[in-house]
Amino acid sequence: MLEQNKYITEIYKKAWLELEKSTPLSGDCGVICSKKCCMGTDSDGMLLFPGEESLYKDSGSWYTIIDSGVTLPGNIKIKFFTCKGSCQRELRPLSCRIFPLMPYINSDRRIDLRFDLRGIGICPLISNPDLYPIDEGFVDNVHLAFSHLVYEKPVIKFLKFLSEQHDEIEALLRKFYSNA
Ligand code: SF4
Ligand code: SF4
Repeated sequence: MLEQNKYITEIYKKAWLELEKSTPLSGDCGVICSKKCCMGTDSDGMLLFPGEESLYKDSGSWYTIIDSGVTLPGNIKIKFFTCKGSCQRELRPLSCRIFPLMPYINSDRRIDLRFDLRGIGICPLISNPDLYPIDEGFVDNVHLAFSHLVYEKPVIKFLKFLSEQHDEIEALLRKFYSNA
């Protein structure tokens, strides 16, 4: 078990490192929206990737980790991470590093980066991509980050879960806009 934890920790560190300095825009996108994705409340937070919690203590001065209630096939429990609106940047979770993108498993079973539609209400990069095109270097680095993770079955199960969620939100949005 210890060896397994050490292994998982190492691959997440590699994934994190690919996005250590990379940001969605070449400048600070937080100035556009007053850092809406970093509001830091008990209910705002993000899902950790499976096993990513092994990089953290159960709680720290700036974050809390609790059960998310999401269980993937194989009894894989997904954790929920909240912060207080600021963080030790080198320890921010993968979800923060890749936002506003998400890894979507397409019909060819390949990872396709899409906008994370869960953030459409807060992130101008998602709602107005023509005005704020995502930096291509950032896209490349998100791909690189997942190149370290794609051989991990729990991660693939999680990506399928996220992809299903994405499909559901997209269907709801289509319905909403077609009725508007
Ligand atoms: S909500 Fe979008 S634009 Fe605002 S800080 Fe987060 S990623 Fe950048
Ligand atoms: S951990 Fe850092 S990057 Fe992530 S939401 Fe909190 S303040 Fe923002």
